[in-house]
Amino acid sequence: MRLTDDRYANEKSQFDLALRMIGHEARTGTITECTGLSDDRIRKLYGTYFRSGTGRRVRRRRGKSPQQVQFFVKTPLNQLEATTLVALFAANLLIRVDAKHRMHPCWPRPDVEYGHRLCRAYETYQLLHPSPKLSFEWAWALLQHVTRNEELYLATCAGCHAAYVQDAYALDHAECPACSIALKTPSAAGPPAPTRSKPARV
Ligand SMILES: [Zn+2]
Repeated sequence: MRLTDDRYANEKSQFDLALRMIGHEARTGTITECTGLSDDRIRKLYGTYFRSGTGRRVRRRRGKSPQQVQFFVKTPLNQLEATTLVALFAANLLIRVDAKHRMHPCWPRPDVEYGHRLCRAYETYQLLHPSPKLSFEWAWALLQHVTRNEELYLATCAGCHAAYVQDAYALDHAECPACSIALKTPSAAGPPAPTRSKPARV
């Protein structure tokens, strides 16, 4: 009986996560990686819960996740939002940031708990940035990049000392995206104050 209860709880958690991720328009491959559910079961879930016409319309995405690292630093706004997400990954214990601002993975491989934590991080990000530049799949790609290779790292701003996401192959001017945006925004109140809109610290 206990075994049956545990199995039911596990399956429910898998399905809950799949529905949560479909709601964020995650790709089928990403959902499979976190839930262990087959493509066929995800397709049926999508058909049952999201294609009936009564609920919210979501697109089912297939194929590969976006990968280009440059996208995260393409504009100061993208860079600021990527930095927010990294701070939320750390807050949800998906990564650990050490005293030297180096990022370390906390999870050996994606699983259901990892997926729920990523959803929580992404949902908080959506609350902080109502018109988000980064889709759920970009958030997934960002998490893979910061934990699996060293193309992205946390640089430190010379102006406000905040950490921010930077491309290891880009020229770094030691200026965080918040300071960059503040310096480019004319202010009626006088000179820009870069420390007033720091990105979330990690
Ligand atoms: Zn700064």
